[in-house]
Amino acid sequence: MEHVEVIDSVCTYCGVGCDIAANVKDNKIQSIFAHPEGVVSEGNLCVKGKYGFEFVDAPDRLRIPRIRKRFLAQNPTIYEAIALHVKELDETWVETTLNAATTAAAMKLQEIQAKYGRTSVCSIGGARTSCESSYLLQKFTRHTLNSPHVDNCARICHSPSLKGMRTTIGEGAATNPYNDIYNAEFMIVFGSNTTEAHPIISNRIVDVAGKHDNLAVFDVREITLHRFAKYKGIIPHEANLLVLNMMAYVIITEELYNEHFLSDRTKGFESFKAKILNDPYANPKYFEHIEGYENLSKLIPKVAREYALKRSMIFWGLGITEHIDGSYAVMAITHLALMTGNIGKQGAGLMPLRGQNNVQGACDMGMLPYYDPDYQTPKEIGLMTPQLVDEMLEGRIKAILNMGEDLTHVHPNSNKVNRALDNVEFIMVQELFMTEIANRADIVIGVKSAYEKTGVYVNAMRRLHLSQPLVKSDLPDDWEVIKLLDNKMGGNYTYEDSKQIWDEVREVAYRRFSGASYNRLERHRVRGLQWPVHTEDTPILHQLDFRTEDGYGEFHYHPYQLRGMVQEIQEKRLTGYHLTTGRTLAQYNNASQTSRCEKLNKRYDETILLVHEDDAADFTSEKVILKTEFGQSAPLTVKFTDKVQPKTLFCTFHHAKSKINNLFGDRCDELILTAAFKSIKVEIINV
Ligand code: SF4
Repeated sequence: MEHVEVIDSVCTYCGVGCDIAANVKDNKIQSIFAHPEGVVSEGNLCVKGKYGFEFVDAPDRLRIPRIRKRFLAQNPTIYEAIALHVKELDETWVETTLNAATTAAAMKLQEIQAKYGRTSVCSIGGARTSCESSYLLQKFTRHTLNSPHVDNCARICHSPSLKGMRTTIGEGAATNPYNDIYNAEFMIVFGSNTTEAHPIISNRIVDVAGKHDNLAVFDVREITLHRFAKYKGIIPHEANLLVLNMMAYVIITEELYNEHFLSDRTKGFESFKAKILNDPYANPKYFEHIEGYENLSKLIPKVAREYALKRSMIFWGLGITEHIDGSYAVMAITHLALMTGNIGKQGAGLMPLRGQNNVQGACDMGMLPYYDPDYQTPKEIGLMTPQLVDEMLEGRIKAILNMGEDLTHVHPNSNKVNRALDNVEFIMVQELFMTEIANRADIVIGVKSAYEKTGVYVNAMRRLHLSQPLVKSDLPDDWEVIKLLDNKMGGNYTYEDSKQIWDEVREVAYRRFSGASYNRLERHRVRGLQWPVHTEDTPILHQLDFRTEDGYGEFHYHPYQLRGMVQEIQEKRLTGYHLTTGRTLAQYNNASQTSRCEKLNKRYDETILLVHEDDAADFTSEKVILKTEFGQSAPLTVKFTDKVQPKTLFCTFHHAKSKINNLFGDRCDELILTAAFKSIKVEIINV
């Protein structure tokens, strides 16, 4: 009988981090299913987890390092050094060995730093690689290259959650385990299309809401979760902070706050209260004058009351963070928890639903320009990705090391990014496939996917999972490429395996990971461990004090600035269309993995523009181009629906050919520069 092995690991896609098990035969994944004892997946996987593995054996997987011919022609000394190891591939590329590719990269990085200075190089990482690789990339950049410029893809998603939560409660992470949903008496989901983006969390929410009728949902469009909600909030674009401050206003004016908690655990409430009471936009009655949204004037107080008087949890996603006031909105969310004591206990807490499977881990590892590992202050603060792009345009950043992040596809203002990349002398990319950024690179190195390697991943509830390979691969892990590069640039990395790197992480980031050895993670593979992990792990954060310097939760009030759609409606001049973008269930981010899985691709292989039926007169052809001052999209297929509001549009950004991110400019979160992907005014061109 043919031998089928069952191997367990963790899903490579979203931040839920489901426990998976795979049937593997002849070093090929046959099927993936939920680990029968999985605490996260609870016996279910979404379609991505179940069917999203074909990419591993895709024929266009990057298996041999490649170098752009033009790069070698422009760098004859480098060509001479590796000429014996170069083989023709096509008119653009030559193939080479990993050794030769890293030799070429090291020579070029040295040349660039000698010519333009040590800070002319930067590293940008994705968050689907392991903690070990993220840790090593930031260490290599900060220490071997001696450049402070390190960033990761959290810049375009949950950096505002980190900022907002650290400012108010000292820790930028979910406070409770997912299963605490079963202990909550009330839940608010705000700016998260959980059913599409974090399906296995959505299952729990739907389950509980179905039994207890205890769910409030706020979004700019009608999403699946609204069907299960007691309070169905459809709000205007860019009104998050407005609604959240209104909830605080209700809690204050109706004295629903928890005085005991406020005096024991927080500071700054009195000043916060005074500011809210003086805010002209904080009274929910304001919505009585916002046509089409009048119901919110009554709905917001009802939600605020239930939230305050019950054991409650709040979940949020990029609908909160990808705005100019994303960090402030996160602070406004934590204010609600601080006022009511809905934090630091079972069934009550704050749950940012983070995007990629290791985005929490990448941040924990210090892949951020303003944090070393364990959120320590680095000796030198580097630049955030949008600032790096500006520096590229100015000619001050000359080299990029890009590990699993598609700068030219998933970041905003793609035309500007491409102009910036034209100014860069050297780009090296570690990837699975020829993504948009790989097609702009000088050296591209194919690396192991998550299903081929060992490493630690931290999911959106701080749960550490030691992932093990489902199949063997000869490709290098990301950290092995960095190690080689380091050695060729005079460094002394001697790591033999990912465990040695992780053991170093446990020393450097001891406040979170000291007790999380590979052995222990192995033993707790099913239950998992939530950081901080010392002798015990920590399922619920902030039980006794907050992780701020003095242990108190802090209020940092920020008023809503009237703008965008709310202002247009108030001033009765709502014209044109507001676009919001997001994910769909079957695809993932730049779709580099999911678009190579037939079963997923069948479900969503082009970008559809959702338009309200009432707006049909403006959409006279089947396809339209969207246009802004920054660029235009490709022609998009129009679908009429009643699930978006009139004068609002929705589409995804997964497929590069749709060119959606051409539309966005530099509008971003004021504190942390996360792009305002959730609302932009667009012009329609029927084609
Ligand atoms: Fe994977 Fe997320 Fe789906 Fe779970 S919910 S199977 S982690 S994509």
